[in-house]
Amino acid sequence: MSPAPTGEIDNAKHAIVIGAGLAGANIAERLAARGWRVDVIEAGNTAASGASGNPAGIVLPQIAKDDALTARFSRLCYAYLLQRLAGLPHCDWHPCGVLQIARDDAHEIQQSAAVKALQFPAEFVEFLPRLRAQEIAAQPLSHGGWWFSQGGWLIPSTLCTALLAQHDPQIKCHFNTHVSRLSYDNNLWTAYAADGQAIIAAPHVVLANAYAVNELLEHTFPLKTIRGQISVLPADALPKINPVLCRTGYLTPPHNGLVTFGASFVNDDADLTVRINEHTENLQRLREILPQTEIANASIAKLSGRVALRTVTPDRLPIVGAVPATIVMPLRTVSLSNLVHLPGLYALLGLSARGIVWAPLVAEHLACVMSQEQSPLPQNISDAIDAGRFYLRELRQHG
Ligand SMILES: Cc1cc2nc3c(=O)[nH]c(=O)nc-3n(C[C@H](O)[C@H](O)[C@H](O)COP(=O)(O)OP(=O)(O)OC[C@H]3O[C@@H](n4cnc5c(N)ncnc54)[C@H](O)[C@@H]3O)c2cc1C
Repeated sequence: MSPAPTGEIDNAKHAIVIGAGLAGANIAERLAARGWRVDVIEAGNTAASGASGNPAGIVLPQIAKDDALTARFSRLCYAYLLQRLAGLPHCDWHPCGVLQIARDDAHEIQQSAAVKALQFPAEFVEFLPRLRAQEIAAQPLSHGGWWFSQGGWLIPSTLCTALLAQHDPQIKCHFNTHVSRLSYDNNLWTAYAADGQAIIAAPHVVLANAYAVNELLEHTFPLKTIRGQISVLPADALPKINPVLCRTGYLTPPHNGLVTFGASFVNDDADLTVRINEHTENLQRLREILPQTEIANASIAKLSGRVALRTVTPDRLPIVGAVPATIVMPLRTVSLSNLVHLPGLYALLGLSARGIVWAPLVAEHLACVMSQEQSPLPQNISDAIDAGRFYLRELRQHG
């Protein structure tokens, strides 16, 4: 960690962060913790106006039987998030455990074999046969599953707000402000509104505005969106569950008289209206989780919902780090470590369906990169998420 702020203003440690979702709030907090001044610019009228505004999000890691890079990355992120949540009392976080129920008999065998082979500590993950899983869920279930006793669910907007409120007054939020253009001149980036007015200037910018980022870039990132609709039902319509239950979808325990379940996945569809057919799909996911509960389609009348877009990359990993300058380099020598970057321009994008879990650690990594500190991420993971990797692939493919 850099030394704590001394009260003197260091103009070089001033960043504009575009977007106040999980990406923007996490990087703003990590920079402010190092004494940076941060101006967060958000088009919506509050933090978490986009994907991060869902009423509930699940906190659980990914497990893979070969413990591949994505699983190792996810495990590091999960451990880091759990530590961070312990120090954020204003985040509405419910560490009630998560039971990931097997989809079918073959999946149940795979789940059990993976836990046996990987030998993780039981407090991280256990495989529970059906009868034990039913005891935890207090519900009849179709199969056993992975039990993450330290997992749970949280309200992502409260995480964003709690992060942005830390280190007051170093983080300043500008809501209802849409950045339409960026320009670089005299070692400063200036963010402009649609009417051409300059909003603010700083030597560093972090692009944390999800799929909308490409409107601001000449050379775009390969991002796609996946529409997701969640459904919300009065809690008295279902039996009371205590942990989060997941299968192909998820169901959160009751909170303020409501339960949340979902979510749909629709590729390349940016429409944000709630649809009846996606409520129907979510009800089907709910039936798979609670096979012995009568869940009538008539319940649709009682449902409310919210739609948001997940931002995904071709390799399903996030984009984190310095934005490359599109300079053609000799193919024989070009690598991630010698790509030329645009001065002071960084990205924290592509958080996919994992933003709650991934964002805190990748923000810590990016804050280390921006502050020239040693990152906690191993080199192979930092390379795998590097913001230059897609440009490097383009160079190699097209010369
Ligand atoms: C249905 C659904 C369920 C999910 N469930 C989970 C879950 O259970 N667990 C989990 O870990 N993750 C989950 N996710 C994923 C998680 O919500 C996202 O990964 C995360 O919210 C992405 O955060 P972000 O900050 O990158 O994007 P966003 O939250 O979308 O934030 C981007 C912000 O940038 C602002 N913006 C855009 N352009 C501009 C501009 N030009 N100027 C100013 N502001 C701008 C937008 O208004 C927005 O507020 C889910 C996502 C969806 C859609």
